[in-house]
Amino acid sequence: MPTIIDGKQTAQEIKSEIAVRVAEIRAGGGKTPHLAAVLVGSDGASQTYVGAKVKACEEVGFKSTLVRLESDVTEEDLLNMVEDINNNPDIDGLIVQLPLPKHISVDKVTNKIRPEKDVDGFTPANVGRMTLNWPAYVAATPYGIVELLKRYEIETAGKHCVVIGRSHIVGSPMSILMARNGYPGNATVTLTHSKTQNLPEICRSADILIVAIGKPEFVTADMVKPGAVVIDVGIHRIQDASKKSGFRLIGDVKFDEVAEKAAAITPVPGGVGPMTIAALLYNTLQSAEKKVFG
Ligand code: NAP
Repeated sequence: MPTIIDGKQTAQEIKSEIAVRVAEIRAGGGKTPHLAAVLVGSDGASQTYVGAKVKACEEVGFKSTLVRLESDVTEEDLLNMVEDINNNPDIDGLIVQLPLPKHISVDKVTNKIRPEKDVDGFTPANVGRMTLNWPAYVAATPYGIVELLKRYEIETAGKHCVVIGRSHIVGSPMSILMARNGYPGNATVTLTHSKTQNLPEICRSADILIVAIGKPEFVTADMVKPGAVVIDVGIHRIQDASKKSGFRLIGDVKFDEVAEKAAAITPVPGGVGPMTIAALLYNTLQSAEKKVFG
């Protein structure tokens, strides 16, 4: 049996560590860390994600503010809202839940967020800092994966790491982090995307396979080298009448058959997902303590 990389338990450990630190800050008379989340519209998945983030803030003792805006909010009004939060000294971290309605430019909104409060790590300033290996807010999902590799003491130096997907929020930063000079890192990285040829063959040469393609159960056992470490970022709801909710979650990896070949693997749910939230909380704590930008 492979090692099941338990993101749920690891995230819980990280949240406990953060809660201890928050209690120390408060005991010393310091300010309670404060995360603001902006949610535009009423997309079900986005509401679930933001709700989970707000709940996690409560768990660790953070203050949180949820700003809800109608889906027809103008780009200007949203930019003004971001600016208000930028200028609010009580708020340490600001996230704008994606996706945004089509009439709003994600790039403009992202660029409006002050880098010092960009705890999602999406602004050009933080992406640049991360790339230079400077202190930075690293995007929460890649940061959560890095933390999982670290806490499970997965060897990365000299390994071949294949990343499937090059999105700005997962695949691209992941490839940079795995290639950097440090731990986890020092891997030889292949970043793949929809134009990549011979993907199954490339995947079979991976010691570490990180899958963020957004296609349910895309990676099958024949694409995996025996003994590989497999990190599944994908999340998909599929209908399942046997569940009370009417659906269940699956990843980008066909878990059962890949688990038989892998040395270690993240499940879905309970793998990367909970770590993303823990990483966001950690970034917010770092901001409250002025650890990244000083
Ligand atoms: P995305 O923006 O849709 O990017 C998907 C990437 O996969 C793109 O780079 C695309 O290539 C590539 N791709 C598509 N088809 C391919 C193919 N046949 N072969 C190779 N590459 C292919 O997705 P994302 O935002 O990175 O998210 C990926 C998955 O992770 C989704 O299921 C999402 O729900 C999930 N997710 C989970 C978390 C979490 O907390 N667990 C966080 C974020 C995302 P091109 O660039 O060429 O189009």
